[in-house]
Amino acid sequence: MQEGQVRPGNVLKVDCFLNHQLDVDLLDKVGEEFYRIFKDDGINKILTIEASGIAIACMTARHFNVPVVFAKKAKSKNIDGEVYTSTVHSYTYGRDYDITLSKKFLSPSDKVLILDDFLANGKAMKGLLDVCAQAGATVGGIGICIEKGFQPGGAELRAAGYKLASLAIVDTMTDDQLTFREQ
Ligand code: 5GP
Repeated sequence: MQEGQVRPGNVLKVDCFLNHQLDVDLLDKVGEEFYRIFKDDGINKILTIEASGIAIACMTARHFNVPVVFAKKAKSKNIDGEVYTSTVHSYTYGRDYDITLSKKFLSPSDKVLILDDFLANGKAMKGLLDVCAQAGATVGGIGICIEKGFQPGGAELRAAGYKLASLAIVDTMTDDQLTFREQ
């Protein structure tokens, strides 16, 4: 409420604490809370997307004692078929980009917790879910720091049956006011 800034295009800027400057004490609490929610779900790997998801994933992984793997946005050559790839439409930049993940880091023996900073239309999550499907990995849960509840990604993922936990859900957003969903 104090530090978020609303930008054109329904973008909430939280770079004071979540995705540029990092509030490590807050991220530690975020990790603790994701552990509380997903600790009984058999998670053996945490998957996220660079760059903003990495800090959240690492702080959460400390509680689970499992590895973190992140999908890369930079183009990797796929000459030997060594990587899974998926195409994502970027909410904040308004264009498509490819994500890649090395095949050696995700397999059918993995039960994955997918984490990200924001959930809006769900395109980034769709790319990560696609990579899990290609690997034959099971999705044990999805954790989001801030869901924009007035955009469709969250409702679609819940309707599809995923265990989705969003630590804050913004229901309405104007230039000078945010309202949060009671959970
Ligand atoms: P989606 O793919 O669900 O439409 O959007 C989620 C992705 O776009 C997140 O990975 C996040 O980086 C970015 N994003 C979407 N909405 C916002 C926003 O309001 N603020 C910020 N900082 N990033 C956002």
